Amino acid sequence: MANASPPDGNPLLANHGLPDFGRIEPQHVVPAVTHTVERARQQLESLEQHLAPDWDRTIALIEELDRPFDYAWKPVGHLFGVKNSPELRTAYDTVLPQVVEFGLRVRQSEPLYRALKQLRDGPEWDRLEPAQQRIVSDRIQEAELAGIALPPEKRERFNQIEQELSQLATRYSNNVLDATKAYGLEITDPAATEGWPSSLRQLAAQAYNTAHKEDANPPAATPERGPWRITLEAPLYVPFLEHCRRRDLREQVYRAFITRASREPFDNTPLISQILRLRREKAALLGYRTFADVSLARKMAPSVDAVQDMFQQLRAASWEPGQRDLQDLVEFKQQQGDHEPLQLWDVPFWAERLRESRYAYTDEQVRPYFPLERVLEGLFALLHRLFGITVRPTVAKVSVWHPDVRFYEVFDEEDRPIAAFYLDPYSRPENKRGGAWMDDCLGRRQVDGHWQLPVAHLVCNQTPPVGDTPALMTFHEVETLFHEMGHGLQHMLTRVDYADAAGINGIEWDAVELPSQFMENWCYHRPTLMGMTRHYQTGEPLPEELFQKICAARNYRAASQMLRQLLFGMTDIELHTTFDPDGAETAFDVQRRISQQTAVLPLLPEDRFLCSFQHIFSGGYAAGYYSYKWAEILSADAFSAFEEAGLDNDQAVMEIGRRFRDTVLALGGSRHPMEVFRQFRGREPRVEPLLRQQGLLSDETPA
Ligand code: ZN
Repeated sequence: MANASPPDGNPLLANHGLPDFGRIEPQHVVPAVTHTVERARQQLESLEQHLAPDWDRTIALIEELDRPFDYAWKPVGHLFGVKNSPELRTAYDTVLPQVVEFGLRVRQSEPLYRALKQLRDGPEWDRLEPAQQRIVSDRIQEAELAGIALPPEKRERFNQIEQELSQLATRYSNNVLDATKAYGLEITDPAATEGWPSSLRQLAAQAYNTAHKEDANPPAATPERGPWRITLEAPLYVPFLEHCRRRDLREQVYRAFITRASREPFDNTPLISQILRLRREKAALLGYRTFADVSLARKMAPSVDAVQDMFQQLRAASWEPGQRDLQDLVEFKQQQGDHEPLQLWDVPFWAERLRESRYAYTDEQVRPYFPLERVLEGLFALLHRLFGITVRPTVAKVSVWHPDVRFYEVFDEEDRPIAAFYLDPYSRPENKRGGAWMDDCLGRRQVDGHWQLPVAHLVCNQTPPVGDTPALMTFHEVETLFHEMGHGLQHMLTRVDYADAAGINGIEWDAVELPSQFMENWCYHRPTLMGMTRHYQTGEPLPEELFQKICAARNYRAASQMLRQLLFGMTDIELHTTFDPDGAETAFDVQRRISQQTAVLPLLPEDRFLCSFQHIFSGGYAAGYYSYKWAEILSADAFSAFEEAGLDNDQAVMEIGRRFRDTVLALGGSRHPMEVFRQFRGREPRVEPLLRQQGLLSDETPA
């Protein structure tokens, strides 16, 4: 695959080959994107005149309209994440509204909506492939969920509601931000910081300096001498509760955290009712019984009942083990000579001490066994074994945004190239976003009579090589690489011929983590993991003892974590189904009622977690928080197909691997995910494999 870019023109205006990342500069963004959006808008207007109820004169035209954005816009979004700069940010902010607006314009195009409906109801429908039918149906449904089919007076109200909901979401999240910012526990006594890890000291001293930088005499807090400031932001709050030995301080911070954004001047209480009230009204306008039904319309889970059913099965399996987790903490704490009753603000602290005593291993012990090159060899060998594909570094010269970035090509059994990916492995705090992700660079589609191969971005944030020491990975980083590769495989091994359903496009939200979490499972498979380890100095594989600790730590307090997620997920569903914002019960009552089934240690009566539950009130997870668990069930169940056949039975693993490739990885969004799952597994998903994996099946947990 070669780079292509107009020789002295703007690289963002290329239209084939790989984007010329090495040549893209911030000054290219505004002219290229403005030009592309403007041209696409003109084309859309003229095309709206010529739509007809057949595939070639609806979706196919729209797909063509999207294509220039692969070169003009996608690389910009990508560089925003991996090579940011003030100039790029300014350019990005300038063009983003145009791009968003154009996307909305297409989704809400009435001529297109009408043509698609005619197509669905007309004679050509039966001649379309299932993938095409699904693309058309999804487009229609998406437009309808955006209110396009409503009569004028209802539509006006609908638009008002959407407006108001988006303002409320912004206010909600601003309140959380402001309330978070307003709180800080300042500590000056070094004795109170005994037992803190150095990273916590460092962050807390930094937070102190930031909070006081406007003072007449700005302080110069140091990690060793303080002062320190603890805020309610996760990177400080979590390690503080885990490591601060002063119980009274933990209590203060805990209480502040669970009441965040629940009091004036940053009170989200009235906003919660208002948001839930408007969502109810929106659902009714669209003709749905509840808002949860609206959310589920575009998800794999078939119904609210199915989600409730999942909750109940998971809860039933986790409740007793959750109580045992708690009992373990109480006993351990007493053994350590602390006889006070265990309170909510003690749980993270003692859970961390118990973890240390049972499974203590540090990242530093593990890292020397996981040089990046060895891990990649192991990963590629696994991909070959499972899916018959071969991954090789490219021999061609490929233009990249940083010298550390690698480009790999993927070949099928007949050694034909089928896909490629960029791997950007190392962290660059100065201009690269944290975390890890997969993104599509180019999707599989037909271009000028030949197939454009899918190209993925795999982005991680590992420690780069230092001096003579190669890049060494923590176990968590290895798992993350496998996770992103799982997403990447679904993008790269697609066989779908239509852009809207190729790769991860068009896959329901609660199903999209299936291949990624599936891949993580292999990190706990002894031969796979051991095969990826080789001490960078001694050449030794990972010691057995460390492997055992890694596996054991995986399920530590699994039931407690499960119950916590169930509290969130069940409250979310309840608030978006039966709850009446104008009824006698408040949202906090609902949370308390559900906590009685999900919290082994009762919540405080003043717990106002809902006031900072951004996932469902200002993020995209409304009536969708359950998706985390749903996807875990799918991935554990998919992996169990391999376990049942025997992970060391090469022939069986190969056969099931090919089936996984031909279904989950190849079909992408072209079929309903339940149908895809059934094709792979021969039946619908079951919860038992997840419960077994987490040690929560009652016949396997100690009595
Ligand atoms: Zn993921």
